[in-house]
Amino acid sequence: IGANLARAVEAYPDREALVDCPSGRRWTYAELGRAVDDLARGLLAAGVAKGDRVGIWAPNCAEWVLVQYATATVGAIMVNINPAYRRHELEYVLNQSGVSLLVSSPGYRSSDYRGMVAQVRDACPALGTVVWLGESSWDDLVAAGASVPVERLAARAAELSCDDPINIQYTSGTTGFPKGATLSHHNILNNGYFVGELVRYTGRDRICLPVPFYHCFGMVMGNLAATSHGACVIIPAPTFDPAATLRAVAAERATSLYGVPTMFIAELALPDFADHDLSSLRTGIMAGSPCPVEVMKRVIDGMHMAEVAICYGMTETSPVSTQTRHDDDLDRRTATVGRVLPHVEVKVVDPATGVTVPRGEPGELCTRGYSVMLGYWDEPERTAEAIDPARWMHTGDLAVMREDGYLTIVGRIKDMIIRGGENVYPREIEEFLYRHPKISDVQVVGVPDERYGEEILACVILRDGHDTLTVEEVAEFCRDRLAHYKIPRHVRVMDAFPMTVSGKVRKVELRHAGPA
Ligand code: ATP
Ligand code: MG
Repeated sequence: IGANLARAVEAYPDREALVDCPSGRRWTYAELGRAVDDLARGLLAAGVAKGDRVGIWAPNCAEWVLVQYATATVGAIMVNINPAYRRHELEYVLNQSGVSLLVSSPGYRSSDYRGMVAQVRDACPALGTVVWLGESSWDDLVAAGASVPVERLAARAAELSCDDPINIQYTSGTTGFPKGATLSHHNILNNGYFVGELVRYTGRDRICLPVPFYHCFGMVMGNLAATSHGACVIIPAPTFDPAATLRAVAAERATSLYGVPTMFIAELALPDFADHDLSSLRTGIMAGSPCPVEVMKRVIDGMHMAEVAICYGMTETSPVSTQTRHDDDLDRRTATVGRVLPHVEVKVVDPATGVTVPRGEPGELCTRGYSVMLGYWDEPERTAEAIDPARWMHTGDLAVMREDGYLTIVGRIKDMIIRGGENVYPREIEEFLYRHPKISDVQVVGVPDERYGEEILACVILRDGHDTLTVEEVAEFCRDRLAHYKIPRHVRVMDAFPMTVSGKVRKVELRHAGPA
């Protein structure tokens, strides 16, 4: 990763590499390369050895990007810590990965990071130095590097292998407690490169990233795709802010915009949406969870993102395994998650037997290739459950391989509802209910039922101007159009869904909360 950045610096020193909109700061590739080297020397001065874990716990900012490249340059393992974590999760992650140096921001909005670090410090014996962004400890860290000869940086680089672990990324925790996917330079740099190839990035591209850096969506599909193509990264705001995002696209003439579907929904719903000049956009990436067809159409037409790509992947596979292509038709771009990336293999198997199912039939998606993680950090049993001896990663997702080789994601195995012996896929019902005039957003989950084992609960967010939706209204809407066993028996009106910071709905919580 260090060598990849150095190549970009040499090839296009004067090209813009990074723009931090909140602070108005900008870096060319030459400036970015210098800032990364200065910080890397600072890390050496602080005694960071190859393989040491360096944590970063902060919302999106330019320093986050510097830490990403500087840790890779000195062969430290960067541990991305979710900015929404609180004391309990922070302590777990610091100890589980053994972070010895932590970079954090003192506070952001209601998040008192300094207070939380103080509270867990005694319980984290490995944790030594804590460096606060925007304060003297950060400046001191960088300044100390001035005494480290550049040759020491080169000597460290010579010790590194592309197969070394470079990054521990905890999974989103959508289905349970996060797991620390351990990734190498080779894993994530290649993935970022191929993702960028498929959206046809060049040095003219300017990529607006409202998605969190702590997640692979930001740091691999964003940052690494950008530097491996000489493109520019634009940070619109520390955390997702739909208005700031559209302002940044317009002001910086972004050509590409990323988001999970809920982010695009929020941007499209802004009252002054039509006032933003989005004509510079060409492409972008939508990933992380299924995108409703109607939303996709509006992104393509209303946001000028004619070439927008859908990606499917998971933290454990660097992350992307399949992606749509720039010239795919609307059907492929709305109904599928694309086809397999170069140098990655996929198969769809019967989860019970492991035998590949015929095309057109649902089964568990398995992936194999350079992108599969080294393993879960310090959890060999969970690694062995996920990656089989033939190196296939078992994703836990149900997918269908179409005749044309494109994949559709049916849902997670854990989310599938079994009602009275029938398999019900929540996504199908969600897509259908989306068309209801009162419904703005909908999530379907299974809840325990004495008679049928599980019953179907539709959790809905209503459109402005509506405040009720009864189960009878929903049943009426579904009658004669959905099989009787797919019709929700419970409807719950909500103001918002429980989300992970990466923008995914935590269906586990909806299930636990039940219909009441
Ligand atoms: P955890 O593993 O901790 O429960 P998580 O699986 O949500 O959390 P991630 O690695 O961030 O953590 O997300 C990967 C998952 O996101 C995939 O396994 C899949 O279920 C879902 N996903 C990713 N991309 C898509 C997509 N384009 N369409 C549908 N689902 C997707
Ligand atoms: Mg997962």
